[in-house]
Amino acid sequence: LDSVVDEVLGDAMGVTSVRVKNVKTNETKILETPGLFVFVGHDVNNGVLKDVNSGFICEMNDWGQVKVDLSMRTSVEGLFAAGDLRIEAPKQVVVAAGDGATAALQVISYIQEQA
Ligand SMILES: Cc1cc2nc3c(=O)[nH]c(=O)nc-3n(C[C@H](O)[C@H](O)[C@H](O)COP(=O)(O)OP(=O)(O)OC[C@H]3O[C@@H](n4cnc5c(N)ncnc54)[C@H](O)[C@@H]3O)c2cc1C
Repeated sequence: LDSVVDEVLGDAMGVTSVRVKNVKTNETKILETPGLFVFVGHDVNNGVLKDVNSGFICEMNDWGQVKVDLSMRTSVEGLFAAGDLRIEAPKQVVVAAGDGATAALQVISYIQEQA
């Protein structure tokens, strides 16, 4: 990757352009654009599920996503996962919220079964 965004330029209405810098030549150029989308990558924030031996406390796939069933159950009894960190997550707010509702209802059932 030779070029990086050096500066975002704008006015009272918002973004108008970005200054792009070639890190090899230090050359810069202005690209006019009405907006900017920050791509933050695909890494899953799964640190909370890591155990002391640098493995995970429940089953994950090769990309570090938690394996769940349709009820958001993980491989560990009583542990549910919802949202972007689960397998096949579309990574959309509406889905994450739905996952959370599904998991919450399953948690209630699980607790009632334990009583
Ligand atoms: C730049 C950007 C733009 C997006 N645009 C859209 C869009 O237009 N439409 C759309 O539908 N979706 C969009 N998304 C995706 C959407 O934000 C996610 O799908 C959604 O937020 C996932 O919800 P979540 O609850 O799984 O995770 P998050 O919203 O990431 O919530 C996880 C929470 O857990 C906390 N956390 C993490 N680790 C720990 C820990 N160890 N202990 C305690 N708390 C912890 C975090 O601080 C965070 O608050 C966008 C995402 C990004 C990054």
